[in-house]
Amino acid sequence: MRQLLIDHDRCTRCEMCLSACPFGALSLGEEGLEVGDQCNLCGACVDECPEGALDISGEREEVDVSDWQGIWVFVEHSDGRIAGVVGELLTEAQKMAGKAGYEVSAVLAGAGVADLVDEVIARGADRVYLADHEDLASVHEETYAGLLAALVRRHRPAAFLFGATVRGRSLAPRLAARLGTGLTADCTELDLESSGQLIQTRPAFGGNIMATIVCPNHRPQMATVRPRILRADPPDAGREGEVVDLSDEMEVVAARTVLLDAVREDAEGVQIEDADIIVAGGRGLGGPEGFDMIRDLARTLGGAVGASRAVVDSGWIPYPHQVGQTGKTVSPNVYIACGISGAVQHLAGMRSSDTIIAINRNPEAPIFKIATYGLVGDLSSIIPHLKEEIEKAREE
Ligand SMILES: Cc1cc2nc3c(=O)[nH]c(=O)nc-3n(C[C@H](O)[C@H](O)[C@H](O)COP(=O)(O)OP(=O)(O)OC[C@H]3O[C@@H](n4cnc5c(N)ncnc54)[C@H](O)[C@@H]3O)c2cc1C
Repeated sequence: MRQLLIDHDRCTRCEMCLSACPFGALSLGEEGLEVGDQCNLCGACVDECPEGALDISGEREEVDVSDWQGIWVFVEHSDGRIAGVVGELLTEAQKMAGKAGYEVSAVLAGAGVADLVDEVIARGADRVYLADHEDLASVHEETYAGLLAALVRRHRPAAFLFGATVRGRSLAPRLAARLGTGLTADCTELDLESSGQLIQTRPAFGGNIMATIVCPNHRPQMATVRPRILRADPPDAGREGEVVDLSDEMEVVAARTVLLDAVREDAEGVQIEDADIIVAGGRGLGGPEGFDMIRDLARTLGGAVGASRAVVDSGWIPYPHQVGQTGKTVSPNVYIACGISGAVQHLAGMRSSDTIIAINRNPEAPIFKIATYGLVGDLSSIIPHLKEEIEKAREE
């Protein structure tokens, strides 16, 4: 069993470890330094101690993986609406669960969230762990990680899936660290072996290879999955599921931080994640003013404006519009790439679009390899012409 060892003879009570500990787990008592339950053996105090009085010893605890059963999905929600990725994860979890004889459970936590239970079941959960508590009203990863860690230790799921959203990317690693298990971030594909082993696939080395990652010795197997990579089945209002209401029995640990305000991302027009049509611009636009043309075409089509990283980095348009490996993953019905070369990192975020139309003056541009339709020529003449033709067709 791993533990933090304190050499009291060496300890000078300098207190440097106290401020180094991110979890406030250390304190000075009459007998010397003491370690509290919050310690997750992160090692920050060991690195900080100038006297070498602290050490972490022992092997990681052996886990009997056969004790861990089922797939869990974290239900992200805001303003009374469940995030789209939750349906995608529940659909995928249901597809996989049968291979190992598992059930699919969802964890729904927040304040006043009980109304969402039916929808979570309709979207694929066999069981919902409901934690409805006023102390969960604001999003504190620390509080949520403590709650989820306690639930995981009690119910032992084999796998726990999160959306690779801002929230999921912040919460899942905290939970994995507390549980001493692995986490594969930003998966694009999941599968389950009959043994319960989760096969997690994600791009690596700038998207040039796909890495397959397993977590054979620890549980739960944790993954975040990018929104819109997997397809969600439509909700089935006739599905039945069990509700395990934990609202009265759980202990909510207060966070050490206070959320003062939440400010919504200021993205103009339609959000690209939800758009059916995206008109995206790249360096071929020549400058920020080139986006006037893109916005105009997007407005005509009732679509949203996307962008490559090159133009976001140049400050031509803000980050919420960026599509790609380090931006958003989108899967609209129509994606129009204007002056975008088609680097692998850009393709990683849009290649699952139903119809891809590429406009580029270079006939050899890589974007044409995945385009459904390609228009070779200058943007400044093609885009206005395209817009005119669309308007004409609408009037007919
Ligand atoms: C770790 C990492 C992560 C990354 N993440 C992302 C990401 O999330 N998203 C992303 O997009 N990129 C990402 N990149 C950057 C990526 O590698 C490319 O540099 C970037 O996508 C290029 O943007 P672009 O296509 O707009 O520019 P360019 O590659 O410069 O392409 C411009 C294109 O416009 C065409 N063109 C020029 N003028 C005209 C004209 N008048 N008419 C028509 N066509 C014209 C050119 O022929 C060219 O094909 C990442 C890179 C790294 C290393």
